[in-house]
Amino acid sequence: MDFRDSPQEAAFRAEARAFLEAHAPEKIPGYGHEDFDEQQVVAQARQWQRTLFEHGWASIIWPKEYGGRGLGPIEQIIWNQELARIGIGESLFLQGTGLAGPTIIAHGSEEQKTRFLEPILGAEEIWCQLFSEPGAGSDLANVAARAEKSGDAWVISGQKTWCSGASYSDWGMLLARSDPKLPKHKGITYFLIDMHSPGVEVQSMRQLDGGEHFSEVFLNEIRVPDANRLGPEGAGWSVARTTLMNERMTIGGLERLFSFGLLLDHAKANRQRVDDVMRDELGRVYTWTKALELLNARVVTKLGRGVIPNAEASVMKIAIARMITKAGDIGLRLSGPEAMLRRGEWQNQFLLAPSIHIGGGTDEIQKNICGERVLGLPREPSSDREVPFDKLPRS
Ligand SMILES: Cc1cc2nc3c(=O)[nH]c(=O)nc-3n(C[C@H](O)[C@H](O)[C@H](O)COP(=O)(O)OP(=O)(O)OC[C@H]3O[C@@H](n4cnc5c(N)ncnc54)[C@H](O)[C@@H]3O)c2cc1C
Repeated sequence: MDFRDSPQEAAFRAEARAFLEAHAPEKIPGYGHEDFDEQQVVAQARQWQRTLFEHGWASIIWPKEYGGRGLGPIEQIIWNQELARIGIGESLFLQGTGLAGPTIIAHGSEEQKTRFLEPILGAEEIWCQLFSEPGAGSDLANVAARAEKSGDAWVISGQKTWCSGASYSDWGMLLARSDPKLPKHKGITYFLIDMHSPGVEVQSMRQLDGGEHFSEVFLNEIRVPDANRLGPEGAGWSVARTTLMNERMTIGGLERLFSFGLLLDHAKANRQRVDDVMRDELGRVYTWTKALELLNARVVTKLGRGVIPNAEASVMKIAIARMITKAGDIGLRLSGPEAMLRRGEWQNQFLLAPSIHIGGGTDEIQKNICGERVLGLPREPSSDREVPFDKLPRS
């Protein structure tokens, strides 16, 4: 394992840092908290994305022909580290640049690439993901939203849930069932839907931290042109795997979610509350941080050798969620009575922590992956893989 940047990586880091120092805004407000002003946050995110686009930094890994820098995952990690270093967190454009764009590049027609890719990088269109449903989360292949062919269009009805950013998105990546007579993984088709189409109804959901980060989306007989089908009819599951694989690469990123230095500063500022037990807990969080940094270095080293990491992403996701929960708990206790009186960094972290255990695949699902790929345990039995979807029992 090599912890140092190679000469090329060091040069890339220096170039990225110089650009960010010259152009990055002082603060890009996050979203999801109760004081979130949607219009203002969207406008600022758009402005920053435009700056990135104009200077050629809108995507590190998209091929050059589509407006990216055409670099690899190591440069993406270095870029993420440099963003985190100056406190720039997740972008509202991430679902477009990180999920929709790479899926369209992999599976889209030339017309779709021409229509959709530049508006994503150029900050014109924001995307959301319409995959989960009340009965399809961990078992995503269970999607029941129905797509029926009607001439050169599809009529789609159903209910999607937990859709991050749907209230301000222009386009959505949608999975719908086009053939219920086939087994559940086989009768799904992937669509790109215009969120402003008649029949799309977005209802915001209030979450634990008071924000309205995600929404339920009701599709009431919306018409989607066949030209907006991504990949062949019935091949939605394999197209969705591209989106999910890219999602796994955008989640994680310890440096974006947690800084031990901030927790330590908080402890130093509230020394009167740091007893032996607290000191022990801080030590444990520090040890986890270091272990995760090493795991991250292992992933980067593997990527550098052209090897796709296997279960490391699952191990990292479980550990990051656990650590953020612990750090939020310590941060709140260090704040003392203040924690109950007003909102702040540690209150937000404490309230955000439960969602990290769920989004992008729950802890239990990650543990299943580790069980199979690390411990070599048998695959989880699934008796319904070959049963036609319309014969499956439904609640
Ligand atoms: C912050 C956040 C953002 C999200 N954004 C989006 C988005 O933009 N678009 C979108 O489509 N979805 C989004 N989601 C939804 C997310 O993908 C699902 O919540 C997640 O996949 C879990 O599905 P579920 O909530 O239906 O829980 P379920 O799958 O119903 O799980 C319920 C419980 O059962 C356990 N469980 C389920 N199956 C197994 C199993 N096989 N083995 C062991 N335990 C199991 C789970 O671990 C969990 O504890 C988001 C979620 C969060 C928290």
